[in-house]
Order: sequence, then C-alpha cells, then structure tokens
Amino acid sequence: MKKKKITQWMALLLALALACGCTACRADEPAQQLEPANSAAEDPGETAAVKPVPGEITAPESEPDYTAEDLFQASYPVRFGYAPSEAKLYMAGNRAYLCLEEIEETFPECAAPAEAACRWPVYEDDGKTYVSLADADVLWGLCAFFRDDKEIELYRRATEFPEVPVSQAAGSEGTAYLRLEDICADQGADGGFTHGALERTRLEGWFLKTCAEGFYIAWIPRYVDPARGLDVDVSRDFSFYNADLVYTLDVLQNCGGRIVLHGLTHQTGGEVSADGTEFAKECRLSAEQITAKFDEAVMICSAMGYYSDIFEFPHYDYTPAALSLAEARFSVIYQQDPTSRRLGQIEAHQGGKGTVYYVPTPADYVYSAYDMDGILERIRKAEAAGQIQSLFFHTYLDADRTIVRADGLQRTYRLDENRNFLLRILRAWASLGCRPGLFDFD
Ligand SMILES: [Zn+2]
Repeated sequence: MKKKKITQWMALLLALALACGCTACRADEPAQQLEPANSAAEDPGETAAVKPVPGEITAPESEPDYTAEDLFQASYPVRFGYAPSEAKLYMAGNRAYLCLEEIEETFPECAAPAEAACRWPVYEDDGKTYVSLADADVLWGLCAFFRDDKEIELYRRATEFPEVPVSQAAGSEGTAYLRLEDICADQGADGGFTHGALERTRLEGWFLKTCAEGFYIAWIPRYVDPARGLDVDVSRDFSFYNADLVYTLDVLQNCGGRIVLHGLTHQTGGEVSADGTEFAKECRLSAEQITAKFDEAVMICSAMGYYSDIFEFPHYDYTPAALSLAEARFSVIYQQDPTSRRLGQIEAHQGGKGTVYYVPTPADYVYSAYDMDGILERIRKAEAAGQIQSLFFHTYLDADRTIVRADGLQRTYRLDENRNFLLRILRAWASLGCRPGLFDFD
C-alpha cells in the first residue's frame, strides 16, 4: 500500500471537520493540546507549511531514506484500554501512525480539534489520513503503551503533576540546563529502555512540558552491542521496539526537548553503547574516521526528521583532533571548554561554522539511585561557586519513582513526589530562581 505524504518534515495545518464533543480527552492541559505543535498560531498567513519556531525542527539536510515499499508495510493490533478493536497501528519506517477515520470510528467520544498542527509527517491515502502517534497525543490527548506481545494499548492521557513555582525572592530569574542522557534503542535488554521505561521517560517529558521552557535529549543514534549481535540504526532497522523508541523521541520533542547528538555509537570495539567511549585517544581514530562518524550521526538524525547542531562526546572524552573537527562541524559542544580557565561557564569560540559554544554541566549528574543528597549538594555548590546550573540525568533512575495507572480508557501519569529525582532537581532550581530552558544562542 502506497501512501502519499502530505507534509515534508514540516508541520501542517490539519483542518479536521470533526465535531468536538469530548472534553474528557483533552481534560489534561486543554489549552496546550489545542495549540499547534509549533508557531502556526503566530503565523496565520501561512497555509500549508507552518513556519517553525526558530531553533525548532527545521528542514533536515536530507530526505528520509524510506522507499515507498518501506512505508506502511507493517501494522499492529490496537486495543482501547484492554479491549481489542478494529483499529491498527501503521508503521512508516519506525514512526507509528494511527488512521484518523479509524480512531474516530472506534473512539467516537474522542474527537479531534477543528484545526491543529502536526509536527511529524502526515500521510493520506484513499481519503484516509494517517497521523503519527506522537501527534495523536497533541490532537486527541491519546497516549499509547507498547506491550511485549506487540499490541498497542491506547488511552486518553491524564496527568497529575505538582506545580513547581519558581522563587522570585532568589533574585533574577534564570535558566538551568537539563539534559536527559544516553537515550538509545537498547532493545530493552538491560532494563534502561524497556517498553515500560520508555513510557516513563515520556511521562517525564509530559511533566517537563508543564514546568520547563525546554530541555535537551542526548541521543545515541546507533545502538551497538557486539556480544548480543546488535547494531541498530532506527532510520533503517524497522521493528516494533524501535517504533516505541522513536515515539518517545517524538513525544519528548513535542514537549520542548531538543536533540543532542551523543556520539554515533558511544562505544568502541566490543563495548556496549552508552558504556564505552568513542573518540578517546585509545580509540585511535583517524580524522577521516571521526568525520565519517559525525556524518553518519547527522545523517541518521536527518533521516528521522530530527535536527541537531549540538554534539556531546561520550564520557566527555576526545582527542585534540576530534575536538577541532567537532568545532568545525557543530555550533554547540555540550561540555566544559577545555581551554577556559573558568570552570562551569558557557564559553564562545570562533570555529569552522562561526561561533562555537561550550556548555558545561558543573552539577554533573545523578550517580545512582542513592544520590539524591549528592545531586542536591552539587546544585548548591555550583550556585555558591557562581557557575551555571546545568546537569544531566538518566531517566531510567526515575522509572520506579513515577506512577502509571490505567483505569478503563484513561491512563493517568504521576510522580512519586518524595522520591522523584527530576522533581527534586527542578524544585532545587526553582528555589534558586531558575527553571530548565534552552540556550539563548541556540
Ligand atoms: Zn553517555
């Protein structure tokens, strides 16, 4: 079955002449869900293509690699809550799609708004419209859970997140930088990104959408584990699991996240991605090999319809040659400037593409499940030293500090308020007068 793509990596106004009879499906953050995913509301003069917000998704450097034969070759059963249905989840590469008409038919109380913007490509075929799963969240307030038996459970999404008011007494309101670390298609084998852990990563994206101006997503484009025979490029290797990973990356970006290229594989030789280094001295890479890795990371990113001009060396480990090639290629190197005599400050250099910025993470990261006091202390120390507020966080540490409850057709997402790392970090920042946001030079 061939589908005609009606958007090309740009948001599109979907004029949906559907009755808007359900408030329950948009009870969660109604104003946000009715708003376009990007700046459509600010630019009513545009008709089809909506002008992206500066620094948001912009035109990639290349078209996706999918051939017509790749599109919609796979589909999976969809349940509404636990109940089986006639609806299907359709796959365009690794991006999962719902058919608008099937959803309307099967889930009539959940009507789409009259007009909305989709961030990810929309397809139409035989008078039917196919919308990505991540945009279904924005359009209908629908969320999906990927089951191990390769069926999808679809729910109305509800969230009950605490507010995080930023202290005005702390002085000037500032921006903190949060990076969700080592997101990768690990196939769920080591527990970091199982279907359940991916859902809880999306949960934290939905939470951040309520209280942050933006955040960063350190993504490892290719997941390699030689001992298990894994070498996974989500722009080419299509599977049910990979679709869940892509759904998660799409949702995080819909929530204000920006992609950071965290190496290509984040490993060398027999090492597993996210464990090993990739550009360190012992990796013995030639300039050509380094450039090829940068090229491939950018290419995979573009093929998914993502955009990034930000690079982070795995384990912050690099050779002088790798660093100068990265400076020539990217606009932001997300780590401490090695040539600066100041620690914990944003620095600017003149590089191959113009100005290159270094953004360090002086509060470091959450070392383990027992590091709550440690991370809060490092935040205080950075503040006392006059450094920027910046750290990175592995979302799976919060997997058992988040709460997911299914009740009929509704799935409710909450945080364990006493134990959730992200909430405690954001509260610590709020007490200092700052909240997570984006670099103002981005
Ligand atoms: Zn890493």
